[in-house]
Amino acid sequence: MAFEQLSLLRADPLLALIGAYRDDPRPFKLDLGVGVFRDAAGGTPVMRAVKKAEERLLATQDSKSYLGPEGDAGFVAALAPLVLGDAVPAERLAGIQTPGGTGALRLGAELLARAGVSRIWIATPSWPNHAPIFAAAGLTPEAFDAFDVASQTLDGAALLAALDKAAPGDSVLLHGCCHNPTGIDPDAALWAAIAERVEARGLVPFVDLAYQGLGDGWDADAAGARAVLARCRHGLLAYSCDKNFALYRERTGALWTVAPDAEASAILYSNLLALARANWSMPPDHGAAAARIVLEDAALAAEWRAELDSMRERLVTLRQGVSALGTIGSIDLAPIAGGKGMFATLPLTRSQVAWLREHHAIYMAASGRINIAGFDEASIARFGEALKALVE
Ligand code: PLP
Repeated sequence: MAFEQLSLLRADPLLALIGAYRDDPRPFKLDLGVGVFRDAAGGTPVMRAVKKAEERLLATQDSKSYLGPEGDAGFVAALAPLVLGDAVPAERLAGIQTPGGTGALRLGAELLARAGVSRIWIATPSWPNHAPIFAAAGLTPEAFDAFDVASQTLDGAALLAALDKAAPGDSVLLHGCCHNPTGIDPDAALWAAIAERVEARGLVPFVDLAYQGLGDGWDADAAGARAVLARCRHGLLAYSCDKNFALYRERTGALWTVAPDAEASAILYSNLLALARANWSMPPDHGAAAARIVLEDAALAAEWRAELDSMRERLVTLRQGVSALGTIGSIDLAPIAGGKGMFATLPLTRSQVAWLREHHAIYMAASGRINIAGFDEASIARFGEALKALVE
């Protein structure tokens, strides 16, 4: 036995931040750390349409007998056209329900490893869990720099250069929209160039779409994913309903594969089922069942979309408010208005982040990532004052 070889690992810094925020007695404390949507009252409520779907589920569900490793097939079937439009012919697509977007990423990573793909290219900074997920499945994450945090810009040339450097058959991870942690997405021209390059170089795109509907709008947020997946021979799409249905802890997601033809697609599907079986046997049901009820009922679907739209509008308004703070010292907040979704990353050092926490009870990730949804009008002003005090 070699348990002695194990060492104590540091707790996830963001989880530690949650604890520190909770224990902070200062009434004016501001949480920009945790990556969940917040409404104007600072809450992360169950969406109204989801609540109604849950009530219906409770009233009508007459068995909790096992489903299969594919999970709720009706959920996947209802979601697919909304996510992918007509980008990929149905016979080339295979999809299964997964435990959240994380489960989809892990399952996709294992499928890639099984298919002999050994490397995945990841532009940094990225969601901190990406590299560990791919590494855990046996892939080598190839990180490359494609963001300039100081100017809040995506370096499209660096991104395309990495695709040129990647070997045919390598995979590349692409955030579908609302990039976490920068909020900076490719524009339509860059998406077209990425799609062209992925096809020409024979790469396997792995799109992570975790925030559809929270950026520019439902279809606009999936346009990049659709453009890339329409042109690849093989590709993957990891999807999360945990933000756009506010289902977070219910762990609701899906994974789709794109294959060259129906026969190849059936092979991928059978491998997805086998991998799911060996990982979690079958995904948790509740969130997907509730989302399916919403999607299959026109009135509930419209109610959910309207609520999602209002969440998106809140983010847009808050972004404009933060952006209006302008430039404070060397920190330029103006580009925040052009970002998408919940996150932005500010050019702050770790010690500046710590100073804001100690002196102003402003909590954010050590990387300088802020959750835009954590603000309200008053706290934006207070944030500006704190940044002024920081740079003085
Ligand atoms: N992908 C990105 C970019 C994310 O930010 C997250 C969650 O924060 C996920 C995937 C995972 O989402 P889920 O909670 O559905 O596993």
